[in-house]
This record gives sequence, structure tokens and C-alpha cells, in this order.
Amino acid sequence: MIGTKAIVSGHSRGLGAAVAEELLARGIPVLGLARRGNPALAARHGGQLVEVALDLADSAALASWLAGDTLGDWVAGAERVLLVNNAGTLQPMGPLPLQECDAVARAVAVNVAAPLMLAAALAQAGGEDVRERRVLHVSSGAARKPYAGWSVYCATKAALDHHARAVQADATPGLRICALAPGVIDTPMQGEIRASTLERFPLRDRFAEMQASGGLLAPDECAMHLADYLLDQDFGREPVADLRDLMQ
Ligand code: NAP
Repeated sequence: MIGTKAIVSGHSRGLGAAVAEELLARGIPVLGLARRGNPALAARHGGQLVEVALDLADSAALASWLAGDTLGDWVAGAERVLLVNNAGTLQPMGPLPLQECDAVARAVAVNVAAPLMLAAALAQAGGEDVRERRVLHVSSGAARKPYAGWSVYCATKAALDHHARAVQADATPGLRICALAPGVIDTPMQGEIRASTLERFPLRDRFAEMQASGGLLAPDECAMHLADYLLDQDFGREPVADLRDLMQ
């Protein structure tokens, strides 16, 4: 019997890479899901990291992968399984007249359909041998406050918050869930924000200033606090939380 195992989406870079690293360092094997791999992480952690190449924007491909054996095989024998729904996209940025419709569909698939599908699949995987399942949706302050240029991102992250609230109302035995806003973190996504145009994202320069003044959280520091909370006995007591409040 293996104690705890994890599934981390978007482990190839940014916050997801740091969360995968933090969990692996704590002796928790990780199944990483992303389009690209993370060879440096795999080299550091050998067989403890298993990587699956998946485009989470392709909901049909994800459904077909979930219908296979990989997830069930991964969960088999674990007493506790953690799912970190971290993969996400900010695109398309911009007001409605600038939003490419196929990019809207891809964002909804990556930011909403995939985490909801993975959460349901996890609840069904492993049977009664798995005593505890914890789902952490990586949400955002943008779920709770509107930002010009981020209507798709705001709406998709708000969907995760409300999913967590409703799943908690289900009170499924052994299942805990939380949609957690992680703070503003120095990842490639922040680079994407700074590379945007003011037409697409009017607050661009404020985010650039935040980076220039050292106001962004380091991914490894954020991952350490996120993992502390994920493994804490109070995880999921509130279905919607902000890591900055928990770090105080
Ligand atoms: P990032 O640097 O852009 O990394 C995104 C990760 O998601 C990558 O590993 C990427 O992997 C994966 N991903 C994106 N599209 C995918 C797809 N179609 N299929 C599979 N995987 C996909 O972003 P980040 O800043 O680390 O953000 C991580 C999470 O934190 C996101 O949910 C984001 O919304 C949230 N967040 C970030 C901040 C921040 O300040 N950075 C603030 C609040 C919330 P591949 O490209 O290899 O597929």
C-alpha cells in the first residue's frame, strides 16, 4: 500500500512545475499531465514522476484517455490521492470584439472542462481502497474580481470556484475540494501578460511594475505554501480560499 499519490496538470512549467517538484521532494509520486514534458524534473526524480502528454484543450482526447487504464492504474493501491488542477490559459485576452472564437472554446476546455472531468474521474478511480481524495483547483483573484481584457479568464476561474462550492455541498465521503487563488507568481504566464498590448489588457503596465519592483511571488515559495495547505488537516474546510490569507 502506497500512502499518498498526486496528479498535477500543467507540470511542464510555471506554478505546476514547482508544485510537482515540491510534492516529489516530500516523497509523493506525481502523475504529470501537460502537452510538453519536464525533462529536468524527470531527471531529478526518476520513476517518481510519470508524465502523460495530453492537450487538455481537446476534451474528446481527454475523455478517451480517462476511459483508459492509466489513471486507475496510478491510483491503485494509494490510500490518499491529490489532484492539483493547475493547467490554465489566459488566452484569449481582450474585449469581445478581439476574442478569437476558437481560442474561447479552447480556454473553456482547458480551464473548466478538463479540471471538472479530472475531478469526476478521480472520484471514480481506485474504488474503496482510496480512503481520501483531495481536489485543488488553481483559481485566481480574477475569479472574484472583474479585470478588463480577461472576461474569458475571469469567467472560467469563477466556474472553478462555484464548482468547488457545489461539490462541497455534495458531501461525498472521503472527498475534499478547494478552489485556491495562489497570488501573483513569477511564471511564463506573467511574461505573457507583460507581452500583451494595452488594447487587449489595459492593466498591463501595472503588472510590469509589480514584476520590476519585486512584487511577484517565486513559484517555489508559492508551491511550498500550496503543498502545506493541500496536506493540511483543514484542507477544503472552505471551498474557496486565497493562499495569501493562508500564508499570513
Ligand atoms: P503558465 O506559466 O502559463 O503554465 C501553464 C501550464 O499549464 C503549463 O505547464 C502548460 O503546459 C499547461 N497547459 C496550458 N495549456 C494546456 C493544454 N492545452 N493542455 C495541457 N496543459 C496545458 O501558467 P502559471 O502562471 O504557472 O499558472 C498556473 C495556474 O495558476 C493557472 O491555472 C493560472 O491560471 C493560475 N494562476 C496564475 C497566476 C500567476 O500570477 N502566474 C495567478 C493566479 C492564478 P504545456 O504548455 O506543456 O501544455
